[in-house]
Amino acid sequence: MTNYVRFENKGNISFGVLEGDTVSEISNAPFDSYQTTGETFSLSNIKLLSPVAPNKVVAIGLNYKSHLGGRPGPEAPEPFLKASTTVIGHGDDIVIPKIALEEGVKIQPEAELALVIGKKCKGATQANALDYVFAYTCGNDVSARDWQQNDLQWTRAKSSDTFAPIGPWMTTGLDPTNIQVICRVNGEEKQNQNTSDLLHPVTKIIEYVSAVITLEVGDVIMTGTPGTPGDIHPGDTVEVEIGGVGVLSNPVVSG
Ligand code: MG
Repeated sequence: MTNYVRFENKGNISFGVLEGDTVSEISNAPFDSYQTTGETFSLSNIKLLSPVAPNKVVAIGLNYKSHLGGRPGPEAPEPFLKASTTVIGHGDDIVIPKIALEEGVKIQPEAELALVIGKKCKGATQANALDYVFAYTCGNDVSARDWQQNDLQWTRAKSSDTFAPIGPWMTTGLDPTNIQVICRVNGEEKQNQNTSDLLHPVTKIIEYVSAVITLEVGDVIMTGTPGTPGDIHPGDTVEVEIGGVGVLSNPVVSG
């Protein structure tokens, strides 16, 4: 298992390998071969960014029985897109849009296992799907519930700016069939379930999505959320913990 960070230092954006609290800068994105540059940084002295800057985030809806509220589960994975402009990193603000606050729209976090594509992927099978996964990370599929219910599309509900916190780093070598997914709001646990309960597992998701959409290096897939996460408001802090990765923390502010 290796933890990779993407970070900003004095205006430069780099990738690095995290060991303990020390980041060793590497020459390029870690998807191909790389060298260490010899530069090291203390984790506390750098600004962590989302561990990748994806061209697209594919998210899967309705993928845990506990999130269905009695609705039948979909027979196939139910993908939707989140714009690249939704992506923020560890510690960045989740900004609730002004219009959502004015309309009293319910905003909820969704703790999700997120995976990072490491190899261009079209037409994967369940047997080879994991060959295309580089690493795993914590994802938060922030959602505006009333817009999700009432708009014709989920675009505003799922793709408002800052609605996809990802990080704090990405971790290789995990078994995606057995990872704990936890959400806390202001320290209080709201979600806690294992990916063994996914209705459609990671391999099925990759096969289904890549049958029609090219997954590019650095793209992110969020795999669905368990249970009922509750609402968030300006002033709250949301944590998503993914077993084997770590804790992604983001404050909530008003737009
Ligand atoms: Mg979701």
